[in-house]
Amino acid sequence: MRKIVFGLFASVLSISFVATNASANATEASPQQLNIYSARNEALIKPLLDQFAAQHDVTINLVTGKADALLARAKSEGRFSPVDIIITTDVGRLSRAKSQGLTQPITAVLPDFVTLQDPQQHWVALTTRNRPIMINPKKIAPGEITRYEDLLKPEYKGRVCVRSSTNIYNQSMVAAMLIQQGEALTLAWAKGLVDNFARRPKGGDRDQIKAVVAGVCDIALANTYYLAAMRNADAESVAIANQVKVVWPNQSDRGVHLNISGIAVAKYAQNTDIANQLITFMLGQQAQDWYAKTNHEYPVDPKIEWSSTLQAMGTFTSENVELNQVGELNAKALQIMDKSGWQ
Ligand code: FE
Repeated sequence: MRKIVFGLFASVLSISFVATNASANATEASPQQLNIYSARNEALIKPLLDQFAAQHDVTINLVTGKADALLARAKSEGRFSPVDIIITTDVGRLSRAKSQGLTQPITAVLPDFVTLQDPQQHWVALTTRNRPIMINPKKIAPGEITRYEDLLKPEYKGRVCVRSSTNIYNQSMVAAMLIQQGEALTLAWAKGLVDNFARRPKGGDRDQIKAVVAGVCDIALANTYYLAAMRNADAESVAIANQVKVVWPNQSDRGVHLNISGIAVAKYAQNTDIANQLITFMLGQQAQDWYAKTNHEYPVDPKIEWSSTLQAMGTFTSENVELNQVGELNAKALQIMDKSGWQ
């Protein structure tokens, strides 16, 4: 059985990886190595990689860190980059990795259920995540809000909490809206939303949920796995999360905003065979079940059961947009958000 070597993503990045590799080579003369840059946190990814390493007799060198920093690192390393596999969240980042020339086509034969992938197969989705509206049901009556567009109504002035426009989840959401609604309507939506902000955007998705319960606002936008994680955390988080209700927006038209987490083979990967085998593994039953039950993300394999927390949030229709276009429109989306005053 081979081991996984972890390199903590410190500010002196190159040093952390060299040390990781050196220790791997010193203790293991494995012919099979796999170098992974992962923006998913170690606790989420390590148990899966342990299983893969054991099954395939491979030494995995894992570097975890912030997605943008990992991509910048791969870019600066260029053709000398040791990275074989890039794992990250958000289609905006996967698309950025491709457009910066950091990826190559996946050669693994993908399962039939795979539909969310780059047209040239430079990345494939491992999970999906949705960004519905979350409300305080004591303040908002059932059926009062059914669409993202409802958030612009004058009665919600000073009642909406959203995180900053620097956050890629919001950028991708606005990019998807651009594709479906066009520039004028998207700008009008963003402006209307800003008009109803309860406060200057700050904090992460969990903070927006907490703000709803604290009475700072009555409405928030957040990814479901944050609410699900809070419902499975300490008693205080559970108590907060249980006071918030999910509203699945736009169910009679374009659907709730959809995003993904995904995986790609790095452009200058040395270990492409084992890298492609890892992709097959990550789309397999074991890994899909892990993501669904542990991180409360929606598995891309429809045969895998959702976590009971996600099941309790109900079923829904997601928007159907070309995800690579969402990635490509990221910069344009940010321009629109800037114009709208979304800080
Ligand atoms: Fe997240």
